[in-house]
Amino acid sequence: MGRAAAAAAVLAAAAACAVAGVAVGRRVSSRRKWGRVIDVLKELEEGCDTPVGRLKQVVDAVAVEMHAGLASEGGSKLRMLLTFVDNLPSGREKGTFYALDLGGTYFRVLRVQLGGQRSSILSHDVERQPIPEHLMTGRTKDLFDFIASVFKQFVEREESGSGYPLDRRRDLGFTFSFPVKQTSVSSGILMKWTKGFAIEDMVGKEVVACLQEAFTRNGLDVRVAALVNDTVGTLALGHYHDADTVAAVIIGTGTNACYVERTDAIIKCQGLLTTSGGMVVNMEWGNFWSSHLPRTSYDVDLDADSPNPNDQGFEKMISGMYLGEIVRRVILRMTLESDIFGPVSSKLSIPFILRTPLMAAMHEDDSPDLTEVERILRDILEVRDVPLKVRKLAVNVCDVVTRRAARLAAAGIVGILKKIGRDGSGGIVSGRSRPDTRMRRTVVAIEGGLYTNYGMFREYLNEAVVEILGEEVAQHVILRETEDGSGIGAALLAASNSSRNVDTVQML
Ligand code: ADP
Ligand code: MG
Repeated sequence: MGRAAAAAAVLAAAAACAVAGVAVGRRVSSRRKWGRVIDVLKELEEGCDTPVGRLKQVVDAVAVEMHAGLASEGGSKLRMLLTFVDNLPSGREKGTFYALDLGGTYFRVLRVQLGGQRSSILSHDVERQPIPEHLMTGRTKDLFDFIASVFKQFVEREESGSGYPLDRRRDLGFTFSFPVKQTSVSSGILMKWTKGFAIEDMVGKEVVACLQEAFTRNGLDVRVAALVNDTVGTLALGHYHDADTVAAVIIGTGTNACYVERTDAIIKCQGLLTTSGGMVVNMEWGNFWSSHLPRTSYDVDLDADSPNPNDQGFEKMISGMYLGEIVRRVILRMTLESDIFGPVSSKLSIPFILRTPLMAAMHEDDSPDLTEVERILRDILEVRDVPLKVRKLAVNVCDVVTRRAARLAAAGIVGILKKIGRDGSGGIVSGRSRPDTRMRRTVVAIEGGLYTNYGMFREYLNEAVVEILGEEVAQHVILRETEDGSGIGAALLAASNSSRNVDTVQML
């Protein structure tokens, strides 16, 4: 070999070594990056861990806070609001009633015809519309004029040809799913907004008066016979179908629960007398807080960046408004820690861009290549060319966040059962037990888009209730999904509170 050839050979060998070195270096660095991302996932899993022991601590904390909220005004983060609903529909109500349901994302109008026999809702018609975003943060008048005009069009369409004049009186139940200080079953004052609403001039105002004025402006004669929270509507429908229904839970855009309480246990309102001896209490459980809740840095940051920091802490871990956003924050952190999701896309930095239904679709993608995950990452977050193992990682994140949410909601439900002695701690049915210590059949009505449409969430919740209560006790507890209960229930309550229907049933 000549010197030139020898030099070329040495150079070639050196070059080959260099290439191999770069490849090894890349592999090492990519392994290191993968390791960093796995650390982020592990930290998330640990932070969101909800072993049954911890859930039981949450159960106890819910029951304790319920007592405190009933003992004095402001005694707990659980407001435990009186609803003045002291009787639930009997099933004997008759006639046509309307309902308006102002939720978090949607607005529904309903017309319900009641036949006078239990379970005979002759028909009900619903129209659902998204609430235009600009109305959520605008002026009171604009929001209520929108509601009244949708209602008017609905009535005109529904009653066309019936000969019922538009200016004749109608009875209506208004479902208004925000914290309200009720002054009677058909009146109350807005205490604060939640779920992204912020209409400043409405806080402290009489809710029904705002609606009634808008009806008048629109030439309608409507009597608002009941102002209810969505949980209360759901309880009313649940109880209408099954008299063992003692509580109702909503898990949609937001989350909340109500239940039937003995009036003598509502210490903060001494002397409260009702014919039934009970009253529905709206817990406003979205604001529940306890040091036992598994909180991560993502929750802390989400809360700090929200329009209502230090507020609605339980809701921010559970409800549909927030789950997708928590997942986005985790994926963003993973992207900042390494480049396995590629460079940080501008979309990934936009708060709330990953809506919970999309996150659920990623979680429930059962295609072998996770094509739906790929599509959502690409189309929504502008994260492209992600290998399968990274797509799997994204599914993992969704799973951790949803499992925690569902299990905490389950602990909340068992907390209510504990407070009212339906968690089996007083003993369950057996030949020897006294009748008053028997575990009675107990039904909890559940509603809301997250629970209804997100199968994995529902499974995790149902599973956790059994895990906390134990199989034997859990046999007596039925979680029953209702549909449109928040609206139909409001119409039922309007019916039972209208002068046309005075029959009611005992609810305790
Ligand atoms: P609202 O809370 O406005 O009364 P819903 O009870 O219908 O309305 O809940 C709507 C919420 O439920 C949405 O904001 C979303 O967070 C959640 N949701 C709806 N569909 C799905 C789905 N397929 N998967 C997961 N979450 C869903
Ligand atoms: Mg709703």
